[in-house]
Amino acid sequence: MANRMRKELGRNEAEITIIERSHNHIYQPGLGKLLFGLEKPENLVRPTKDLLLKGINLIIDEVTSIDPKGNKVITAKYGDMSYDYLVIATGARLYLDEPEGMKEGLEKGDNVFTFYTLEGTIKLRDALQKFEGGTIVSSIAEMPIKCLGAPLKFIMLAESAMQRKGIRNKCKFVFTTPTLSVPPNIEPYASALNTILKARGIEVILDFTPARIEAENGILEDFRGNRVEFDLLCITPPHMGEELIQNSEGIGDALGWVPCYRDSLMHRSFNNIYVIGDAGNFPSAKTASGARIQTKVLAQRMKAHIRGEVPKATYDGHTVCPIITKHGRAMFAEFNYTKSISPARESYIKWLIDVYMIRPLYWNFMLKGRF
Ligand SMILES: Cc1cc2nc3c(=O)[nH]c(=O)nc-3n(C[C@H](O)[C@H](O)[C@H](O)COP(=O)(O)OP(=O)(O)OC[C@H]3O[C@@H](n4cnc5c(N)ncnc54)[C@H](O)[C@@H]3O)c2cc1C
Repeated sequence: MANRMRKELGRNEAEITIIERSHNHIYQPGLGKLLFGLEKPENLVRPTKDLLLKGINLIIDEVTSIDPKGNKVITAKYGDMSYDYLVIATGARLYLDEPEGMKEGLEKGDNVFTFYTLEGTIKLRDALQKFEGGTIVSSIAEMPIKCLGAPLKFIMLAESAMQRKGIRNKCKFVFTTPTLSVPPNIEPYASALNTILKARGIEVILDFTPARIEAENGILEDFRGNRVEFDLLCITPPHMGEELIQNSEGIGDALGWVPCYRDSLMHRSFNNIYVIGDAGNFPSAKTASGARIQTKVLAQRMKAHIRGEVPKATYDGHTVCPIITKHGRAMFAEFNYTKSISPARESYIKWLIDVYMIRPLYWNFMLKGRF
């Protein structure tokens, strides 16, 4: 967003500052690939400062809250910073206190894992390499989550990996979701994925919201008392907005998501605050591909706003969710707020695009505001 704005506006028109607490940026769409040897950790991390064009101030600090009436953000070390326009892009955080037993299971790291962090991904990758047979379960704790297709991709790739390892007949695969259809919960993708899962012998349990994990007994239980046994559980924890959103009066909802107009990306209560990416309460999926298009729209809208013109660009919810279905095959679920766009078809070309092209595109073009 900052890079796009820097290109759109002259230095006499706008001073652009990013406040970011992390020295490094992680390419999160690569985490699922790292599990199965399709990525290396060093390809997924880059210093934040190297991603920015000249003429953007970077302050490495934690934002503790926003004062929307005073037009300032409050930081941990740097003090207060005032703004004319604020773009909230703080993403989502994992909430580890529920389901019961998840945090302890993840900490122990014997049979409960998540690939929603880089550290967790490396642990799960190592466990998968050592896996010699048994039941692998992928479970979504609650919606919304980042990349709603990722836990499903995981179970399909795990099945494919065990097939390639020659131990498929010693394994069982189960996918649980709190939703009533297979994510991304949109046709024609949900039906096509259902057919693939059935053909591959992957059991799907819908409407399953985990309440408890007993790591020592390998049991996952939902709120109705239904139980699933596992030898290896890959759990996708509940997501919430960042704490600073909850600490800021008038900025977020009870779960820390930022309420905004889905077309203009403007905050519901403050017309000089915008939101992009996972932090917003958009009815579309939380994806980098959606965030990329939002930055294009928002850069145009903010430019118009700053120049006293009427902003015209709008976001239609466009998102592309590449879903690897097995080694050598992928399907792209592409949709917007109102309709699906791409066919629900697997192909080798889509696999090549997802595995080999998207990461270089991300680092060199998307983040640089060139695409
Ligand atoms: C396993 C996995 C697989 C995925 N696969 C895909 C995929 O295939 N395709 C796809 O399009 N998307 C995918 N995604 C989703 C994608 O990564 C996110 O949607 C995208 O990164 C969102 O960008 P963002 O800028 O909103 O948030 P983030 O990239 O998470 O950035 C938020 C930033 O805000 C900073 N921050 C937060 N709070 C504060 C604070 N208080 N003070 C200072 N800084 C703060 C953080 O340090 C972070 O750098 C995947 C995600 C995961 C986890």
